[in-house]
Amino acid sequence: MQPSLEKLYKFFKLEAERGYDNRAVVGGLNKILPAWEGDARIDRLPEPLIQAVIQTLTQYTGLETTARAQSLNDLWRTIQASARVDKPANFPPPRLEQVQSPPHAGGARSKKPQPENRRIESSPSPSPALRKTIQADNPPNGKRIGLDAPLTVINGIGPKYAQTLAALGLHTLGDLLYYFPRRYDDYSRLQTINRLWYGQDVTVMGSVQSTNVRPIKGGQAKLTEVILSDGTGSLRVTWFNQPWVANRLTPGTQIVISGKIDQYLGRLMISNPEWEPVDQEHLSTNRIVPVYPLTTKVTQRWLRRVMMDVVKYWAPRVQDYLPASLLDNANLVALPTALQEVHYPSGLDQLHAARYRLAFDEIFLLQLGVLRQKSTWKEADARSYPVDETWLGTQLSCLPYQLTNAQQKALHEVRSDLVSGHPMNRLLQGDVGSGKTIIAALAMAMVAHHGAQSAIMAPTSILAEQHHRSLQAIFCPPDPAVDQPGMSTDQVRFLIGDTPENEKKIIRQGLADGTIKVVVGTHALLEGPINFDCLQLVVIDEQHRFGVEQRSALRSKGENPHLLVMTATPIPRSLALTVYGDLDLSVMDELPPGRQVVETHIFLPIERERAYTQVRKQVEEGHQAFIIYPLVEQGDRDEAKAAVEEHARLQKDIFPNYRLGLLHGRLKPEEKEDVMTRFRDGQFHILVSTSVVEVGVDIPNATLMIIEGANRFGLAQLHQFRGRVGRGEAQSYCVLIPESDDAVENERLKAMVETNDGFILAERDLEQRGPGEFLGTRQSGYSELHLANLTDIRLIEKARQLALSLFEEDPELVSDKHQNLAATLQRFWGEAKGDIS
Ligand code: ADP
Ligand code: MG
Repeated sequence: MQPSLEKLYKFFKLEAERGYDNRAVVGGLNKILPAWEGDARIDRLPEPLIQAVIQTLTQYTGLETTARAQSLNDLWRTIQASARVDKPANFPPPRLEQVQSPPHAGGARSKKPQPENRRIESSPSPSPALRKTIQADNPPNGKRIGLDAPLTVINGIGPKYAQTLAALGLHTLGDLLYYFPRRYDDYSRLQTINRLWYGQDVTVMGSVQSTNVRPIKGGQAKLTEVILSDGTGSLRVTWFNQPWVANRLTPGTQIVISGKIDQYLGRLMISNPEWEPVDQEHLSTNRIVPVYPLTTKVTQRWLRRVMMDVVKYWAPRVQDYLPASLLDNANLVALPTALQEVHYPSGLDQLHAARYRLAFDEIFLLQLGVLRQKSTWKEADARSYPVDETWLGTQLSCLPYQLTNAQQKALHEVRSDLVSGHPMNRLLQGDVGSGKTIIAALAMAMVAHHGAQSAIMAPTSILAEQHHRSLQAIFCPPDPAVDQPGMSTDQVRFLIGDTPENEKKIIRQGLADGTIKVVVGTHALLEGPINFDCLQLVVIDEQHRFGVEQRSALRSKGENPHLLVMTATPIPRSLALTVYGDLDLSVMDELPPGRQVVETHIFLPIERERAYTQVRKQVEEGHQAFIIYPLVEQGDRDEAKAAVEEHARLQKDIFPNYRLGLLHGRLKPEEKEDVMTRFRDGQFHILVSTSVVEVGVDIPNATLMIIEGANRFGLAQLHQFRGRVGRGEAQSYCVLIPESDDAVENERLKAMVETNDGFILAERDLEQRGPGEFLGTRQSGYSELHLANLTDIRLIEKARQLALSLFEEDPELVSDKHQNLAATLQRFWGEAKGDIS
């Protein structure tokens, strides 16, 4: 074996022994790459192999341990195949207690960034995919190959293609089967150009008549215009800022486009459609063809062919794990059928049924998992914190206000959890401004009253600081005169990344010896050697901003501590019960009295000047305003661009006398915080921002929120934005400016004018846009939900109901007919018990 491979093998072995914690090498396995690459070249290893190693190790950090083990084994097999290596790939899978999930776990398909790893005991995420849930029959040649067999068993896929597919997150046969099309081209129902109508989603085929690229927006962007003709008429098609499209669309090219019919100067057109060259093969078969999400190295055509083979041969061999009675009851097609039809549908109805079945499975397995989780939690023991009425009365009397009914109810629920003897696992859901902080503060006071410690973690320093300030104000100071223990400022401390080192030291000391009772901070609470004397309550604010492992990391600093997570994203109850089924739910659906209603208006684009007048008026009165821009194109680049351009334009042409801040997704976290802090401190009159604007930051002086491109946002998100204003004394306003005056589109926005209730808006959002946005707020486990978020709430309800009754009937899944399901669930969620939310 060549020295470079010898070395690699040693590292892998060490890594395996360490339980795949990515610490075999300081800084992570990928740190060996620069030196190793040189060695490999000296050894003259084949280039594809070198690339394979680089790719695997680069992605390694972001994987959870099971997937890490698998990726090292896969890689070694690839090495064996092409470099005549005698050592087998037998790096053992991680032991259960080593299984961890990184933030946004398991997502070959999750595009979210992967922060550095931390080793955390027992926080499972579903194992990499459903793929392993499938047991294929013996293939005819008698050799037993499961669907977790590597892709190289497929004819025509060698190590090189396997590697390319690995970049798509596809490692096994099962992965391929569960790699669902992004959309379909319905060659059986192409629409002719003379029959298009406005607003329709269509697929059109035609030949390119002419192509033209011209600069727009003063030369800062390019518009590609194509005239497409199909013999019945011609259609104008445009692409924004994709000049390369023009090179491929020379006159005479036959293409298929899919998109939504729009209107420009009274004529129908399509902008930014999906497109591809016409595939003669499919034209003749007249069928619905899958369109897969791809990277550049694989062509649709190639992947379709591979899929066709895999689906034909393997899908029928997949075993259904749902009991027949359940299939009947829920009206589901069998799994083999679903897997076949989802790739190559024989008709639209079959496609629909297939997707319904697969989406059902996702929710169903998820739900069974959370139910099991919840019952496990209910069995654990925790310290009990009884609350003395007189003491509580004194605490409450220190507050400058009375609790709302909703707050009293939430407080009551939290109290019962704290005395129950089992760990609290509660989600406190309440609209922006509903006063969640006080509930957390009172819980912390109850725990402190018994001498134990609490930690509250917020996603940004600015929020943590805000909490710290309000906690200082909320906790009664100690008052010996009335036998009031209270809390001194020294007992409530604040820790963020920027805290000076010597102060950190003092805080660490105070936490370790128990003199500090409450610590408020950011993820800095997880960094370095922070130990608590007796951490008994963990509060997570804006819980969706943290990865599951961060939440569980904080929790693991105490012994079975109570957990309270808070969110300001109202989620319809039915959905919350599914998505957060493992947590108990407290809903605060009431704002404190006297809170003013933000006056909301819809201005059409031509009325924009009125909005600017309103800005001037507010600023002249000493207030501040937000102007929000939507994500124009997918990807930060364009998003940032729109905001950057608009910021420049507004500063120069519209508000030359005011100071304008700018906030967008491409700024570093520190830069974002800096802008936000400066806005809060009044250094800017106006903050121009994309949707990254911080949720939860209190800027009482901001009284006007203008949202451009409002039609692009969901109601729930618009409501979040609106919650940034109206937090002070003065009357506040929200102005929605949709992109066009299209009445139908804008009808939706009227709900914003009609109500200020986040829950009502969330319900409407759900009806109109499906559950995708809400599902997205929960991270772990949801990388597995590919189809569920495309479906409607009725399916979710149904799946939840059936999961619940199955769980009640056979909670441990011991009956014979549930054995397949038990195995599937086991693999879906992993075996360890712990956090999933
Ligand atoms: P959120 O639920 O968005 O986190 P906060 O806890 O930040 O809300 O509370 C928003 C504001 O409302 C704070 O200034 C807080 O002092 C105030 N507040 C909380 N509860 C009440 C109440 N019952 N009556 C009056 N004001 C309250
Ligand atoms: Mg808050």
